Amino acid sequence: MSNHIDGGNRKKKLQFGFVPNIFKNFSFKVNELAELIILGSGTGVPSLRRGSPGTLVMSDSTILLVDDGPGALRKMLEVGVTYRDVDLILYTHLHPDHTADFVPTLFASKYGDLPREKDLLCMGGPGFKSFFAEIKKLYGPWIEPRSYHLTVQEVSKEPMFYRNLKILSKLMAHISGSAGYRIEFKDGKSIAISGDTDYCQNIIDLAFEVDLLVLECSFPDGKKVEGHLTPSLAGRIALESHCKKLLLTHLYPVCDQFDILNQCRQVYQGEITVGEDLMRIII
Ligand SMILES: [Zn+2]
Ligand SMILES: [Zn+2]
Repeated sequence: MSNHIDGGNRKKKLQFGFVPNIFKNFSFKVNELAELIILGSGTGVPSLRRGSPGTLVMSDSTILLVDDGPGALRKMLEVGVTYRDVDLILYTHLHPDHTADFVPTLFASKYGDLPREKDLLCMGGPGFKSFFAEIKKLYGPWIEPRSYHLTVQEVSKEPMFYRNLKILSKLMAHISGSAGYRIEFKDGKSIAISGDTDYCQNIIDLAFEVDLLVLECSFPDGKKVEGHLTPSLAGRIALESHCKKLLLTHLYPVCDQFDILNQCRQVYQGEITVGEDLMRIII
């Protein structure tokens, strides 16, 4: 009986919630200082605590999104950022937990009442362009930009300049075409984001002396899976790259049954943060 009542309430709420001007409640402001927001600190395994990967990097000039796993597009609304606001999406690799909201982003951008107006640049590692060509074949006009310009690019060895950001990329030890990113801001601050990776020299080089290193930390020590890091390996990368702060994310549910902070601290004595959804870090 009570189920019926709940169901009825939920229906009502849904009806009220469906307002076309869905964005008017949000007071999104860009900080003077660059800020990183974790949209999802989890993986491809559905979890109430941890959403799939997605990280916003906001500076005074640019709203940058690194990966958009399932649910990231909606989660952005919780920090006041919509599909119309993101300038640049960097994909670390093509696994669905990192890319599933790409198509929904392009589809939403065609929404008649509130179409996207800003140009959008999407970048990924080697293979990203053919991935996009396949998507285009599949969805055709449903995702074709109408009111904005879309650029799809693959990373190169050369640094890329986007407005006042400098972006560097290196291949990671995960699947073919996996890329990590280093983003340097105009005030000299920098961050590096690994995406999924195993221990490798490239992430150490990419993260050299960064202010914030965001590393995947998929499994606890003793439960390592090839192509992913454990807390002590993440600590080793932090130590060897001389980063100033370490943030652990991409946590499989099993991580929450262990003291991964302490496992990491055995190796790295600098500042470590274990990521949570919607956590904000000023860089
Ligand atoms: Zn992943
Ligand atoms: Zn992956």
